[in-house]
Amino acid sequence: TTPDVPALIVEDVTVRFAGLTALDGVGFTVAPGSVHALIGPNGAGKSTTFNVLSGIYGVSEGSVRFGEAELTALAPHRIAALGVARTFQNIVLTAGTVTDNLMLSRHTLTRAGFAATALRLPGAVREQRRHLERVREIGTFVGLGASLDTPVALLSYGDRKRVELARALCMEPRLLLLDEPVAGMNTAERVGMARTITDIRDALGISILIVEHDMGMVMRLADEVTVLDFGRRIGGGAPERVQRDPAVVRAYLGT
Ligand code: ADP
Ligand code: MG
Repeated sequence: TTPDVPALIVEDVTVRFAGLTALDGVGFTVAPGSVHALIGPNGAGKSTTFNVLSGIYGVSEGSVRFGEAELTALAPHRIAALGVARTFQNIVLTAGTVTDNLMLSRHTLTRAGFAATALRLPGAVREQRRHLERVREIGTFVGLGASLDTPVALLSYGDRKRVELARALCMEPRLLLLDEPVAGMNTAERVGMARTITDIRDALGISILIVEHDMGMVMRLADEVTVLDFGRRIGGGAPERVQRDPAVVRAYLGT
């Protein structure tokens, strides 16, 4: 069942903090079912963009449309309910097993109230069982099938990054925002993660916006690229073109 995925349309977004313009008239579109990479040097405004898209930061100007919805007007939980899920640059997992962590991220989808679940009423028990099945399916999909009952504290760094990814997938998103999903990984882990991300696009039809530093990863993964520098969009388009764009090369090499 492929979800009905609309385009994400970011238009003229400006975010000002006291004395600093973190984003300055930024615009780009994430096509349905595509992988779109957001790249740029440190401080370019990539994480700020994610915080705008997930409702954590308000905008000074501009709009973000996802289907019928104007995301800049919505609180984070409303945006999440529309099917926009994110991971963070730094891992934020709770104690317990992989399955525990994934079950926690299902609570937004749970129909039965907390009391009904705690009292183990039959409807609530059936619903929990369905969630558990889906959680195990998603955990297996991201390559954690053998670790579903392992405490996350015992996992390798790369596998903990996968738990983060699985947790976002457990929200049944239509758009996935991944902030540096391969940061700190070794080469083998990076290649594996790149494959998982393209699998998500191809098998699940989910749109993916990914912040990534490694140009090699971007070339391997992205259908389209947007380049930010000092809060401005300085380039974009197909990865092969962006890689040869003098303005982009200049920003990266700092010349
Ligand atoms: P990137 O993720 O591309 O490295 P960020 O989006 O984190 O860049 O930061 C862009 C700029 O905005 C930086 O100069 C950063 O210091 C600033 N910034 C980000 N968040 C805040 C905030 N909450 N308050 C003030 N300045 C911020
Ligand atoms: Mg960042």
